[in-house]
Amino acid sequence: MRESPLILTVEDEPRISRYLRSSLQMAGYDVLVAGDGVKALELVQENRPDLVLLDLGLPRMGGFEVLEHIRKQFDMPVIVLTALDTEDDKVKALMMGADDYLPKPFGNRELQARIVAVLRRYQAAEPAAKKETVYQNGGLRIDYSTRQVTIDGSAVHLTPTEYRLLATMAENTNRVLTHDYLLTHVWGVEYSDDVHILRATIWRLRQKIEHDAANPHYILNEPGIGYRLANRNESPSAG
Ligand code: CA
Repeated sequence: MRESPLILTVEDEPRISRYLRSSLQMAGYDVLVAGDGVKALELVQENRPDLVLLDLGLPRMGGFEVLEHIRKQFDMPVIVLTALDTEDDKVKALMMGADDYLPKPFGNRELQARIVAVLRRYQAAEPAAKKETVYQNGGLRIDYSTRQVTIDGSAVHLTPTEYRLLATMAENTNRVLTHDYLLTHVWGVEYSDDVHILRATIWRLRQKIEHDAANPHYILNEPGIGYRLANRNESPSAG
């Protein structure tokens, strides 16, 4: 990461765009500005910002499409600005790989807090120190030193947040982890009530590591409580 993180704001409403730019600059960030989706993708390609603040309703290319393109190619965090504070938009954006969302209208304090939290999460992507550097659970393998995840020998590309969630579950294989525990450990205490973010990230992880995401083999639901990463290693005493 650069000395001053570079933030790209994508917002077509000039008043909000100016507000974002000045409050981010005041907070010490370098800022790039795009007013539509096509320009946003160009700036992402050219400058690889450390974070993207993305409005959903945009001219030329909508925010969901921009998000989809970003997630195909890049790992930088994306915070979505949702004009319509509907559950649907929020959940859809999270399932598509947004790291967080900020319902409009938002205040400067809330904006800054979200940015700090997301950047911190990406910088501190390394989980607690490990004794062994390779984790093997059935066909799931995590190499902690390179942060490489494979399923049955094929590499799986995870965003830093997805990796953190998986690594946290792997550290606690076969233990039921509550929503609150996972949110606090992976996202931070200020997210402890945000079950949407957890559900969406679990959904994305399952799409990437399960053969059949609807009938998961590794990441199991513990209804009303949380999730458990099942132990799929064959018991040495079996047979
Ligand atoms: Ca808009």
